[in-house]
Amino acid sequence: MSSSRPVLFLVSAEAGCVRADPDTPHVSVMDLGVTRGDGIFETISVCDGRAQALEPHLARFARSARLLDLPEPDLDLYRRAVLAAIEAHDDVAELYVKTVMTRGIEGTGVPTGWAYAAEAGDFARARTEGIRAVTLDRGLRHDVAQTSPWLLQGAKTLSYAVNRAALREAERRDADDVIFTSSDGYVLEGPTANVILRRGDTLVTPRTDQGILAGTTQASVFDFAHSIGLATEYAVVPVAELASADALWLVSSVRQAVPINSLDGVEREIDAELSARMTAYLLGRRE
Ligand code: PLP
Repeated sequence: MSSSRPVLFLVSAEAGCVRADPDTPHVSVMDLGVTRGDGIFETISVCDGRAQALEPHLARFARSARLLDLPEPDLDLYRRAVLAAIEAHDDVAELYVKTVMTRGIEGTGVPTGWAYAAEAGDFARARTEGIRAVTLDRGLRHDVAQTSPWLLQGAKTLSYAVNRAALREAERRDADDVIFTSSDGYVLEGPTANVILRRGDTLVTPRTDQGILAGTTQASVFDFAHSIGLATEYAVVPVAELASADALWLVSSVRQAVPINSLDGVEREIDAELSARMTAYLLGRRE
């Protein structure tokens, strides 16, 4: 567990970006973020004091707001809050900053916003030894974003109860994490991560128009791949291709890249060398 104290900034059009005590309540029990999970968030990795992929995170925050018909977040204010929270936090190797914007107190139409920095957990073991994953059917077709945009698949909303339930199901199945699949048999994403497969000299990830989040870490992993001469591909990936892939990873902010060492109870080889290079690249990102 972390020993340093989180740093909180409240964000509002009225007051701007104001430091606040993280141990004091700031959100109303009437806030739609609390009562309906109606809002959006981002979680940004901070390594050696530098926020990683900050601009892609802010752009995705704005995109999520559009998908939920929320007011446009003032990205300058949120950017300022993120940087100020990092600056004010104890100097530790790995932090994360979470930005949140809810629809606000019912009837006011005024969103509630904040950003806080907190020390990240220790993921060294997962990054080197890997994790056990299970596939779970999300119960939606891979074209859900086109057929039913009101389901908000692909938006980063505060309604993560389903994602947490999937992780508890993984635990019941003696696993650490989940790969969601579509009801029509395609690979989607994890509850908090994107999936990457290696096929020979190509890294493949599910196409992001399939109701999944366009990952900032996945984009960085593709930059890394290009830098070492690997090809990359966004694809519609049938579930059977997970078993035949040369290696698998879940990639996300904060935990970064973790290899999958077992899928649905079947042990798999991890690509330890490529994983180590990927992790070094991700942790070394300067922006
Ligand atoms: N997919 C989902 C559902 C997520 O919640 C996340 C991150 O939390 C990701 C993918 C990975 O996104 P990123 O790499 O930008 O953290």
